Amino acid sequence: MAITMNNWILVLNAGSSSLKFALVDAITGDSGFEGLAERLGNTDAVITIKSNGNKSESKIADGKMASAIAMVMSALPADTVPAAIGHRVVHGGEKFRQSVVIDDSVKAGIKDCAKLAPLHNLANLEGIEAAQQAFPNLPQVAVFDTAFHSQLEPQVYQYAIPQSLYRDHHIRRYGMHGTSHQYVGEQAAIALGQDFNNIQIITAHLGNGCSASAIRNGHSVDTTMGMTPLEGLVMGTRSGDVDPGIILWLAQQQGMDGDQLSDLLNKKSGLLGLSELTNDCRGIEEAAAEGHAGAKLALDVFCFRLARTISALTVGLDRLDALIFTGGIGENSELIRARVTEQLSIFKLAINETANADRKRSNPNIAQPGTTPVLVINTNEEYMIAKQTLSLCQ
Ligand code: ADP
Repeated sequence: MAITMNNWILVLNAGSSSLKFALVDAITGDSGFEGLAERLGNTDAVITIKSNGNKSESKIADGKMASAIAMVMSALPADTVPAAIGHRVVHGGEKFRQSVVIDDSVKAGIKDCAKLAPLHNLANLEGIEAAQQAFPNLPQVAVFDTAFHSQLEPQVYQYAIPQSLYRDHHIRRYGMHGTSHQYVGEQAAIALGQDFNNIQIITAHLGNGCSASAIRNGHSVDTTMGMTPLEGLVMGTRSGDVDPGIILWLAQQQGMDGDQLSDLLNKKSGLLGLSELTNDCRGIEEAAAEGHAGAKLALDVFCFRLARTISALTVGLDRLDALIFTGGIGENSELIRARVTEQLSIFKLAINETANADRKRSNPNIAQPGTTPVLVINTNEEYMIAKQTLSLCQ
């Protein structure tokens, strides 16, 4: 499968009710064409396309994923034919340890992994099938969110529950956000002038979903998300870790069923549940500054849990070369970076206040001289997916 025409990759991230897309130059990361289809499956579905600085919004008459992808295809700039399509796929299970060119057996494998992530993987598969119809001549690649964590060792990935659940149902920790952890890890190594395969770092991806990873010698050795994205850190609306006994109590004493528990822990918890105000971190910070008690509590719990978790992740390393912040919160929240590093001074972490506050920083390292580097790196999952797609198609 040889590509000689160009380096443009159409990156698709198909969710249960949305489709994010971007046309990305896999060499430079440039993108002049991107957008989002929202409310898919509903009568008010819309697609927003930004192309060379112009923004347009259109209704998707039947609300279908296939129609959204067809609209993307017809809106592509006339002089830019993608060389291939890269799909973000959430769960690769134990089967997919790296990105793969999609064929029928890969599609069957993604469907099989849907047992572990039904909503996500089936939506990803729908995106793949619609893209194959729209672009039958283009190679398509699946890039898995779990793949970067695929070298976790058994003591890291096994839950202390009966082994039959692992053997029969593949219940174990997998980790997510792998594409982002790998991207910012590689960028951090470049910024520090070190070899990614010989560096030991912790990456904190803090967006609506939050996870942190310990990276050692080019791969993830520990990470906070588990079989699902619900485990680990406090997130926008997800609880992260809770005593599993609470779930039993809610089921047994309050009669809550699976759907109610899922709604509670995935959509009503986290920053939203703690603050009783919003899931949006910027809004929480503003309200806390004005004295809102719930917002202050949400910030305290978020920062404490993050610091405690970063500390725990050092167990997988024998030195800490750098701490990396990324995602909407990690890239933008001066306050959270300052509070978390302050709580981790035991690891010789101390940030420079001026560098932390400088939004136009030319150097990503915001640490005080002579302390462990703390880097702020903008994630770019689309670029990483484009790079991996191109490398498999050349
Ligand atoms: P997603 O996981 O959906 O991609 P993002 O990575 O865009 O989310 O992160 C969204 C989060 O980033 C929101 O909680 C938002 O409030 C937060 N955020 C964005 N800018 C700031 C800021 N200046 N200060 C604090 N939080 C911010």
